[in-house]
Amino acid sequence: MATAEPTSEPTEETAVETARRQLERAAAHLDVDEGVLERLRHPDSVYRVAIPLERDDGSTEVLTGYRAHHDDVRGPYKGGLRYHPDVTEDECVGLSMWMTWKCAVMDIPFGGGKGGVVVDPKDLSAAEKERLTRRFAEELRPVIGPMTDIPAPDMGTDPETMAWFMDAYSMQEGETEPGVVTGKPPVVGGSAGREEAPGRSVGIIAEKAIEYYDWDVAETTVAVQGFGSVGANAARYLDEAGASVVAVSDVDGAIYDPDGLDTNDVEDHDETPGMVSGYDAPETLTNEELLTLDVDVLVPSAVGNVLTAENARDVRAAMVVEGANGPTTSTADSIFEERGVPVIPDFLANAGGVTVSYFEWLQDINRRSWSLERVNEELEAEMLRAWDAVREEYEARDVTWRDAAYIVALSRIAEAHETRGLWP
Ligand code: GLU
Repeated sequence: MATAEPTSEPTEETAVETARRQLERAAAHLDVDEGVLERLRHPDSVYRVAIPLERDDGSTEVLTGYRAHHDDVRGPYKGGLRYHPDVTEDECVGLSMWMTWKCAVMDIPFGGGKGGVVVDPKDLSAAEKERLTRRFAEELRPVIGPMTDIPAPDMGTDPETMAWFMDAYSMQEGETEPGVVTGKPPVVGGSAGREEAPGRSVGIIAEKAIEYYDWDVAETTVAVQGFGSVGANAARYLDEAGASVVAVSDVDGAIYDPDGLDTNDVEDHDETPGMVSGYDAPETLTNEELLTLDVDVLVPSAVGNVLTAENARDVRAAMVVEGANGPTTSTADSIFEERGVPVIPDFLANAGGVTVSYFEWLQDINRRSWSLERVNEELEAEMLRAWDAVREEYEARDVTWRDAAYIVALSRIAEAHETRGLWP
């Protein structure tokens, strides 16, 4: 899933700090064994690998790669691999924790993993990216596998990257193992609908939230930051559902039409980079202005930490639905809570990606492929099931939507840990 570049900076805390803080908040509502909680504060393991890359000019550069395994009590570790200059060990750990909650809130039998390489993919030629991916796959081979840890695309990686990764792994194993990664092109075992799934699920969940607050979708205005695979598919889903998508953006800026944009006419920045901000729209805005537009629903779908202590009070949207992973800092979250602005959390809203990854893995291990209709139908059913579980907690306890989703996830994980018990 390619997403836009950072648009505003103030990083108040690392992903792992945010993930731990959120875990404590959820734990305060549940009677979780302290030993289980202590395990969940830390990853099971973190691998750091050196990846020698031969550049096209013949020189060699040694890059750093990570793979964090947070928890696998409910099934194999699962989560993306990102290629981004800001990748750090802490970020991988924090994101792997989010994957644990994401899989648990969806009730799919996976745990949490995340990895990446510290590199700017824009600095790599296609051949360099391929060499890097193959060597990274080889370095990670001892700790991944279709029954142990299944990577997927994330920022800076895409289906093609996953095809190279799967090929390198399979060549070394001596057998074709499509189930070792998800998010592959359909011709090599990828699933129909996987690329659109995270954005689709953001759209499905936003629609449920709109319905929950008794808003009329036809009267609802939406602004989407980031028009990559998540943002564009969320925007198109909501446009189709009847909402008016008034603003979308890429790294260079936003376009705004108070009467609603034709989201199918705007190409996403993967289809044609620069097309979003270059689109002929009535008005242009900065990314920061998009975040504070007077709309009903704001969908931040670019990078993390864009809603911060500095701008949360200026956000005029009546609801935030998180498309990106971690777009809201803890301080911003508290400001929204205090202001009564509901924030529908990332690990529920964008969980369609990992859900269709699960469908892909099922198709791979069964050597069967599902139609797009079946994938979308089952995705919708899973999203509605997860929404209902979270809504029940939201209604039963006086908590935020994020806390409600954590409560659902954490109680499933804690119960699995307590039932499996501790190896003596
Ligand atoms: N990287 C995606 C996410 O953050 C997908 C993970 C997966 O499909 O395993 O949810």
